[in-house]
Amino acid sequence: MIDPFGKKAKETLAEFESMNNFLRLIPNYLDIEVALDRVRWVKEGKIPEYILNLDDLRDLMSFYALLGALAFSPYGIEMELVKKANLEIYRRKISQSFDLDNLAIPIVLAGKDEIPKGDAVILEKRLEDALPEEEKEELRLKYKIHLKNLLSLSSKELSEYYIRGGYAYLTKGQLKELWESAFERNLERAVNLFYELREELPSYYLELYNRLSEIAREHFKERLERIGGEAQPLRFELFPPCVRIALSGVGSGLRNYAITVLLTSFLSYARICPNSQRRDVRVKDCIKDMSIIEKEILPIIIEAGNRCNPPLFEDQPNEIKNIWYHLGFGFTMTPTLEDSGSSTWYFPPNCSKIRANAPELCKPDKDCRYIKNPLTYYLRKLYIESKKAEGKE
Ligand code: SF4
Repeated sequence: MIDPFGKKAKETLAEFESMNNFLRLIPNYLDIEVALDRVRWVKEGKIPEYILNLDDLRDLMSFYALLGALAFSPYGIEMELVKKANLEIYRRKISQSFDLDNLAIPIVLAGKDEIPKGDAVILEKRLEDALPEEEKEELRLKYKIHLKNLLSLSSKELSEYYIRGGYAYLTKGQLKELWESAFERNLERAVNLFYELREELPSYYLELYNRLSEIAREHFKERLERIGGEAQPLRFELFPPCVRIALSGVGSGLRNYAITVLLTSFLSYARICPNSQRRDVRVKDCIKDMSIIEKEILPIIIEAGNRCNPPLFEDQPNEIKNIWYHLGFGFTMTPTLEDSGSSTWYFPPNCSKIRANAPELCKPDKDCRYIKNPLTYYLRKLYIESKKAEGKE
């Protein structure tokens, strides 16, 4: 299998009727160690031959097992490692047996005479006899992609491409770059889909996630030491639209949902426990004292409540107890850290729930396309920002 999102992969997966079925079957057929071997090799730098030669079904199973594990914590270092390792595995497979039809990317072969001779002579250096044939082959604009697809996949300037008649013409190198970007996007989409199913996944995936996490922590040890763990100050500019609307204060019909249900869960998980693998996690599992909640999270919630019309906590002073309840401390005004676990620490509702219960809060922007939960929106943006910062360094 050269692309786990390509045509052949889709045909194989269709035999299992649903992705849910496929994920349920994997634990019966695949040893966790095989899935882990897909990432473990990064340390030594050499992909095990047997991983490159797995039959199609085992290749898909071991790859999707990792994605199932990522459902417990998308956009962390684990996803970064899975992306990096598997991108390299499939890159190797593609270079060993290139097959355009089986790549998950909307690119087709360009017609023979679609590029005017004059342009082709310049761009493909056709008349430079001294240039080795392999180099000329690399310069050939053999493929084309519709501009709208190019714009959604490439972060480069359009001037980097030869454009004609609504298409960008590509060399094989450019095609591979775009395929990589499509691969990353497809991987994120799949993980976001599995994120919704994570409560139903067999324990195999949580075990796999924990093992994967150990390998990722070892691999990114230096970076983790530099940033000092995972919980970071909140980055308001990266919040999803629904949370920004809740923060700005809303009307009376919406305020309890916006403040107590959405904002309280979102801010607390985003600040204290962004990558929780379990939904039964308690605040005391993530922090050592109450200061983050009392000095950072609660003031933001109260200010947002005060911005509501009419102000939420003036009207309903007991709603503060409900905030503590939603944070898992029980219905109280005077919680201690030890009380956490007295009630459920509510997880941010999925986008589908927000749209059903408070449609006025959901004003999706372009980044909402990739996610199913406001917290994953935020984690994804944090991930993209950290990649940008790394690029600058
Ligand atoms: S799609 Fe989800 S994250 Fe985006 S605004 Fe709607 S509820 Fe919020």
